[in-house]
Amino acid sequence: MTTKKIVLLTGASSGIGYKTAELLASLDYKVYGAARRVEKMASLSVLGITPIEMDVTDEISINQAVQKIIDQEGRIDVLINNAGYGSYGAIENVTLEEAKRQFDTNLFGVARLVQLVMPYMREQHAGKIINISSMAGRVTTYMGAWYHATKYALEAFSDALRMEVKPFGVAVVLVEPGGIKTDWGIIAAEHLRDTSQNTAYSEHALAAADRMHKLYSSDKLTDPSVIAGTIVKAVESKRPRARYLVG
Ligand code: NDP
Repeated sequence: MTTKKIVLLTGASSGIGYKTAELLASLDYKVYGAARRVEKMASLSVLGITPIEMDVTDEISINQAVQKIIDQEGRIDVLINNAGYGSYGAIENVTLEEAKRQFDTNLFGVARLVQLVMPYMREQHAGKIINISSMAGRVTTYMGAWYHATKYALEAFSDALRMEVKPFGVAVVLVEPGGIKTDWGIIAAEHLRDTSQNTAYSEHALAAADRMHKLYSSDKLTDPSVIAGTIVKAVESKRPRARYLVG
């Protein structure tokens, strides 16, 4: 068995997660990169990262992926919950089904992974859980109610968890990025457009979608490698902060 630290990183197929996986691998961690689109992680496997298929909205998929790592390594030292998306739209226009899917992805997937890795971390009296929240977990923006609700919930969940697991030597860290140049904003703008056709909110929502698309297609936003650097700083730190606001 390897002496390297074992990292499970979700959302490794794109953006912040992809850059974090690259950086961790260059620093000698054994990284399992999880996402639904395993084909997008082929270039990571060349760097020694093990791609693992996982849909964080599907409990069976999560259980199987974690079991695979435990069978292989016997433990997980660092869990980085990064998978997530923003489904923007007026509250009236976003279906509850879509709102729940967003909570499944941004909160309940995190919760299930925490439940599964915690026994191994407690047993070793060591471990780190790094949850990628957002500035959107601290302040709200136009037509982002459901996304903000998931990230505010993730903040509370993480703060409460930190108190619970501290006596077992496990650290819980929140990373709160600002606007980062990834597919996130393009996807959020698409959701905003989809939910805003022919509604009372159309005029405002479609204009907001255009603004968001333009911003995320520009070079005004922070590069995801900056957030990867912050995440790795938290992974490497002996006494990590409770939260890192960055970008
Ligand atoms: P990307 O869209 O580039 O990456 C999102 C990642 O999440 C992908 O790897 C995707 O993988 C994964 N993902 C989404 N849904 C699921 C699912 N159901 N199961 C498994 N994996 C899933 O965006 P970012 O890199 O920007 O986002 C990473 C995190 O950062 C998110 O939590 C986001 O909310 C947060 N964030 C982003 C900001 C930004 O401005 N970009 C700002 C603040 C926070 P796949 O589709 O292959 O499954």
